[in-house]
Amino acid sequence: MNPQHEVAPEVSIIVPAFNEAEGLAVFLQQLFDVLRGCTASHEVWVIDDGSRDATWERLKGELPHYASLRGLRFTRNFGKEAAILAGLRQVRGRAVVVMDADGQHPATLLPEMLEIWRSGKAQIVAAQKANRGTDSLMARFNAKLFNGLMRMVTGLDLEGASDFRLMDRRVVDTLLSFPEKVRFFRGMTVWTGFTTEPIQFDVAPRIAGASSWNTAQLTRLAITAITSYSAKPLGMIFRLGLLGMVAAGLLFVQAMYSWLTHIAVSGWTSMTVVVLFFGSANLLGIGVLGAYLAQIFEEIKARPEFLVGEIAPQSEK
Ligand code: UDP
Ligand code: MG
Repeated sequence: MNPQHEVAPEVSIIVPAFNEAEGLAVFLQQLFDVLRGCTASHEVWVIDDGSRDATWERLKGELPHYASLRGLRFTRNFGKEAAILAGLRQVRGRAVVVMDADGQHPATLLPEMLEIWRSGKAQIVAAQKANRGTDSLMARFNAKLFNGLMRMVTGLDLEGASDFRLMDRRVVDTLLSFPEKVRFFRGMTVWTGFTTEPIQFDVAPRIAGASSWNTAQLTRLAITAITSYSAKPLGMIFRLGLLGMVAAGLLFVQAMYSWLTHIAVSGWTSMTVVVLFFGSANLLGIGVLGAYLAQIFEEIKARPEFLVGEIAPQSEK
């Protein structure tokens, strides 16, 4: 941590970066150009989430150019959520902004975000995607599905929401006071209910490299997000079970009727349907239970969310 006597900067920027070596220099230049123009006191923390390329070396190379630039490197890839958390724990700013390292979150939005925060109008300024830029059709579909599912199950509206947001110190301290290990930053800030001012931005194309999200990761994120914000799926199994009971009751009446009227034996079809339906419903139910069990397991283990490999410049320890 930084020495106590140092005054907290007005603005801290947290930049999670995974394999961003190629575009990092350009990104930092754009960022600092804007920052210098809109605030006198700032710090920028790039959190290298265990990149496998030269991100860390590039970052260290950039340190001499920017006095307020800091870096932290994980021992391995722990994921963007962990990187954001690491950043939140490091920074001391009175306003904290999280933004991507690939240039997709335009730094030119910062002056406006700061203005809104300074005016005291809101404690969170959430940048919302006006368009999805160069996202592929698949990515758009995934996002739609994810947001729709989240709204249905957790009641949190994340449509257009991005991780690009400014938070007042109070919001950051609140988030840090949560004991939970499994985190979903975007949802968490919405959940806190602090006054939020949305502003629109056009998603820019990446400076370099490619997005590192795939459908499997997004599915995992969706499961994490849902299991940490809602127990509704558990209630759904219960209701499905009830429905099954009613159906079984009706079938029982039908079976009794055919038996009494001596037209039995039929029923192969209904039997098959019942077996198939309840067989798969059972598995589905166990799957949902499993997802919550896994969530509880993660929380109970209480392992650290990430491990820090190195901090630069080193005197900043
Ligand atoms: N990122 C990260 N860890 C990961 C994956 C991504 O810190 O495991 C960072 C990445 O470097 C970028 C941001 O998270 O700054 C968003 O990632 P990306 O551009 O791949 O996602 P997209 O823009 O497609 O949502
Ligand atoms: Mg991106």
